[in-house]
Amino acid sequence: MSNGWGFADDRFPEVRRAVQRLCADFPGPYWQEMDAARAYPTAFVQAMTAAGFLAALIPEEYGGGGASIAEASVILEEINRSGGNGGVCHAQMYTMGALLRHGSAGQKAAWLPEIAAGRLRLQAFGVTEPGAGSDTSAIQTRAVADGDEYVISGQKIWTSRAEHSDLLLLLARTTPAAEVEKRTHGLSLFLVDLRTARGAGLTIRPIPTMLNHQTTELFFDGLRVPAANRIGEEGRGFRYVLDGMNAERILIAAESVGDGRWFVERAVEYANSRVVFGRPIGQNQGVQFPIAAAYAHLRAADLMRWEAARLFDSGQPCGAEANLAKMLAADAAWEAANVCLQTHGGFGFATEYDVERKFREAKLYQIAPISNNLVLAYVAQHVLGLPRSY
Ligand SMILES: Cc1cc2nc3c(=O)[nH]c(=O)nc-3n(C[C@H](O)[C@H](O)[C@H](O)COP(=O)(O)OP(=O)(O)OC[C@H]3O[C@@H](n4cnc5c(N)ncnc54)[C@H](O)[C@@H]3O)c2cc1C
Repeated sequence: MSNGWGFADDRFPEVRRAVQRLCADFPGPYWQEMDAARAYPTAFVQAMTAAGFLAALIPEEYGGGGASIAEASVILEEINRSGGNGGVCHAQMYTMGALLRHGSAGQKAAWLPEIAAGRLRLQAFGVTEPGAGSDTSAIQTRAVADGDEYVISGQKIWTSRAEHSDLLLLLARTTPAAEVEKRTHGLSLFLVDLRTARGAGLTIRPIPTMLNHQTTELFFDGLRVPAANRIGEEGRGFRYVLDGMNAERILIAAESVGDGRWFVERAVEYANSRVVFGRPIGQNQGVQFPIAAAYAHLRAADLMRWEAARLFDSGQPCGAEANLAKMLAADAAWEAANVCLQTHGGFGFATEYDVERKFREAKLYQIAPISNNLVLAYVAQHVLGLPRSY
């Protein structure tokens, strides 16, 4: 690994070292094996849970780490920088945010200590639907009140880790779109217990994808969920989802920074060691300049990630910075991925170098959890004052 190359490795050094030590037990061959078998990296996730890293953002009073978003982001950065993939467990860190911010005292007391201890896995979040895509307000999944229960019918797509989670945070429409003033109204959030739901109104179907991501389709057919599992007020679910987005954006940005650092480090290592035409390939400007440019863009994206985290942790508005950090970091990681693969020439395609796997994994964050186009649309409208385009 590099000596830091100007990245803020002096921030939360103990956490960095602890994550690095844990990740050293899960080197490239481990992730290659999981990738080839399309298997969930259970041993890695269990180790992360046992070390308390996935409970970092849960307040200490509920048994969590009480960490800032800046500190938590370092955990994910280091996983991805080690060659692993924080995407397999990142949702356990932040999905509980909706419960923490909007759940009742009783719900928090019942669930948060269990989630913090890792006895309950809350790492599935069902928002996206096939017919709605990026337009969340157009979702069709219905939750109809029936006594002290809701009856849920509809379909979700791309619900990741549903087969590796005990609870699902679900967004569903409780008031038909035609009956609300704004389409973002009338949506509600529920905690669905997947342990009992499967086979009782919920069917989960895995989606084969180009990366090992355990993503699924969910089919709801009259699933009954206790009204006590609704988070916050009925009809305000969209607002609650938005409230959690800045944290998610910052954490994903840190993962992309971790990816980018891994790509740049590997590219430099290879460019220094691979000798062709009697000299290291890195001696050619055609090879070294793209690596230097990728590094430059990554450093800039990383600064935006720290700025967003600073604003978030001091309770200031950070929607623009969190979105920009996510977009810039995802783009910088993708540039670094491309440069790293190019630098490795044919060997970049060989699975044993991990480059092709990380290349596939890094691409995701330009599209999910929000596509970079939608980030640009947000910035154009909310920062620059241009007309809403979507
Ligand atoms: C591996 C994976 C895991 C995922 N995990 C989850 C999960 O756990 N939970 C969950 O709820 N969702 C999940 N998603 C879904 C993800 O959030 C969506 O794929 C993403 O938000 C984009 O939505 P879409 O795929 O429907 O694209 P669409 O909305 O159909 O967009 C398609 C393309 O058109 C562009 N586009 C659309 N509208 C506009 C516009 N107005 N202006 C400019 N460009 C536009 C988009 O940028 C995109 O490039 C996952 C997706 C993937 C691939």
